[in-house]
Amino acid sequence: MFLEVDLVRDAKRHGKGVVGIYCEFTPRELILAANALPVCLCGANNRTIPPAETVLPSNLCPLIKSSFGYILTNRCPFYMVLDLVVAETTCDGKKKMYELIAEKKPVHVLELTQKVDEQEAFDHWLAEVRKLRKRLEQTFNRTITDDDLREAIRMMNKERGLLKEAFELGKEEPAVLTGKELSDIRYRVAGVAGHLKMLDEFISEAKRRKETGRFAAKAGAPRIMLTGCPTAQGTTKLIEVIEECGAVVVAQETCSGLKPLDLMVDEDGDPLEAIARKYFKLPCSCMTPNTGRTELIERLAREFRVNAVIDLVWQACHTYNVESYLIDKFVREKLGIPYMKIETDYSDSDRERLKVRVQTLVEML
Ligand code: SF4
Ligand code: SF4
Repeated sequence: MFLEVDLVRDAKRHGKGVVGIYCEFTPRELILAANALPVCLCGANNRTIPPAETVLPSNLCPLIKSSFGYILTNRCPFYMVLDLVVAETTCDGKKKMYELIAEKKPVHVLELTQKVDEQEAFDHWLAEVRKLRKRLEQTFNRTITDDDLREAIRMMNKERGLLKEAFELGKEEPAVLTGKELSDIRYRVAGVAGHLKMLDEFISEAKRRKETGRFAAKAGAPRIMLTGCPTAQGTTKLIEVIEECGAVVVAQETCSGLKPLDLMVDEDGDPLEAIARKYFKLPCSCMTPNTGRTELIERLAREFRVNAVIDLVWQACHTYNVESYLIDKFVREKLGIPYMKIETDYSDSDRERLKVRVQTLVEML
């Protein structure tokens, strides 16, 4: 695969803007419509955590500490060429980290309202998305028209559609892809034609595997749904452990998996409102109540025929940690399948202990 860093630098040299993002609530369509590239900034390396802890408290989630450590040590290759960081008020740790980043780079904060069922909450979110449009217009000195937005919506829907098709290959039984292989197709820069080609090839290769009987797991291997905090390349320890224990992660109900791919942006009607609506419906644990998550888990469990659910909670992620009580109850009582919560960090120090726990679950299935 081409190097995304080279691609971003090259785009910048040719006059494109570069906008850093950290969260799936950030509407990538608006950034693309401003002739800029949305880039997921780095935050998946244990080595950037100690430098971050010289500034941040150590009892924060590893994702926040790693992200900030990248910036503090100038290790994020995208960070150098950024015009703007778009941040959002999801969890408290990230929200406050953005204030520290704002000392170094221009930051625009989207205020995410969190009562997902209330019209007033959506109206405020829509106003925030409108403000982001203005900020991007000012930053890049151009007008974002509704036609620009519609074109970006079509592009992102196509990209999401292909990613979704790839993740839905997890429905195959026996599995044609491992959860690790699926995790590794995620990339950092949205709206790039090369990624669409890469995804097409990935899907075709998986279909060839099926036709030629080259499966990624044995027939009858326990089928696991991963839910909870997002993973990234470098932080797939739990997926690796599950698959080393002989199970296969067929469905990922996470922001690094199917969660942001479930809904497309409506291509009819007012484009800004359609964008705001799609993102507002993302069932992240910072929403309250977050019933969309159990609805999605239930649907994925049925469609992917999962035998158990494993919930990944990064240490000190309070929203996912507390919500796990409700998910545990829902999975055991409503879906009638086993559930296991794993609370861990980016280090490898607990890998063997995790293996013992996961192995015990897998042997029961
Ligand atoms: S889990 Fe929530 S806070 Fe984290 S990336 Fe997803 S939407 Fe954003
Ligand atoms: S994993 Fe949890 S605490 Fe960490 S950034 Fe995401 S929502 Fe915030």
